[in-house]
Amino acid sequence: MIPPAFDIDGADQRHVWHPYTQHGIVDPPVAITRAEGAYLHDASGRAVFDAISSWWVTLHGHAQPEIAAAIAEQARTLEQVIFAGFTHEPAVRLAEALVERAPAGLTRVFFSDDGSTAVEVALKIALQHWQHRGEERRLIVALENAYHGDTFGAMSVSARGVFTDPFASHLFEVARLPDPVADDVAGALEDLIASRGRDIAAVIVEPMLLGAGGMRVWPADKLQALRAITSRHDIVLIADEVLTGFGRTGPLFACEHARIAPDVMCLSKGITGGFVPFAATLATEALFDGFRSADRKRTLFHGHSYTANPIACAAALASLALLDARSAERRRAIQRAHEAAVGRLSALPGVHDVRVLGTMIALDLTVSDRGYLSGIGPALRSFALERGVLLRPLGDTVYLLPPYCSTSEDLARAYDVIAEFTEGR
Ligand SMILES: *Cc1c(COP(=O)(O)O)cnc(C)c1O
Repeated sequence: MIPPAFDIDGADQRHVWHPYTQHGIVDPPVAITRAEGAYLHDASGRAVFDAISSWWVTLHGHAQPEIAAAIAEQARTLEQVIFAGFTHEPAVRLAEALVERAPAGLTRVFFSDDGSTAVEVALKIALQHWQHRGEERRLIVALENAYHGDTFGAMSVSARGVFTDPFASHLFEVARLPDPVADDVAGALEDLIASRGRDIAAVIVEPMLLGAGGMRVWPADKLQALRAITSRHDIVLIADEVLTGFGRTGPLFACEHARIAPDVMCLSKGITGGFVPFAATLATEALFDGFRSADRKRTLFHGHSYTANPIACAAALASLALLDARSAERRRAIQRAHEAAVGRLSALPGVHDVRVLGTMIALDLTVSDRGYLSGIGPALRSFALERGVLLRPLGDTVYLLPPYCSTSEDLARAYDVIAEFTEGR
């Protein structure tokens, strides 16, 4: 007897709670059975170009054989071990490899599980650092329109809005610098230091690119100015490279655009090539030294069950090995394709502010009801999906952030879909 086929759609509707999903109105989710390169394949055999790297994680391509092999090999050798009092080669090799590639001075690596926890660790390092110094510095400074994750500390430093409203009363106070795309953030930081300088523990930024805040590019010279001011006033600068790390914006890290080194750097998303959840928070030796003591109270009291999971470390090492000159050339090819499409996309009806940073291209659509809840996103998402392209607009912002294996034909198909959508409206 043939067993009945598993009713994935029915069981999903009965038992699963999806992220950022209003189950009362959305279409049922698409079941994906396998993925390869830049494509997702559904049960009916349809192939979908993953133009957003499955929420910004897939780096080289889906099912990249080198990473899959490294994971399988590691799973057979050492799948997990407590990371307090024990260590293992994949974690140590990875820490060394990240330090070699990171901006100068970031010599210590703390592992965790996702972008939000990488940010929590960064905030805790900065806050505890000042307690060790015997100074009452508690204030965190963050940018307007920032996004740093969904846990409480990460939400606190993120822009307040529909994502955070239900929790507003439980979020800690943050000082805001204005939007770095349009405004004088450096001047605003100088002003803030003049009034509350002795309170400021750290400044946290998404270098060069406000990601979830609308894929908005901000200038390298403003980032340089923030680094200069924070250095001068001994304020910890945290660079959240959870999205921008590992080549998304061209160079390996977005800080390289401004030739700056932060005091703390958060990495996740693409760190394992997009295979398994993982994150790292890098810090300077000076910060680490403030915690190294005979006094147990100076311990960094943070850790997760799966800290430095060996399988994740092996995946990350395999992914780093793939970030070679060939990968850099592929990223440049994607950037050239994006740049060549700017003219055509800018000329489309209702399209404005087309921008490119490395492998990212974004544009804004003119709509009457602006913001994340604007109706344009779902409409374009289903329009594109019907044509075999995965897009997920952020409000009225449409963007591509494709895996590095994407070809010029794949990209052309995504540009075409955006063009058809705007012309047909
Ligand atoms: C996605 C993101 C985060 C949060 O990462 P998660 O893995 O979703 O917790 C933090 N910072 C930035 C800049 C991000 O884009």
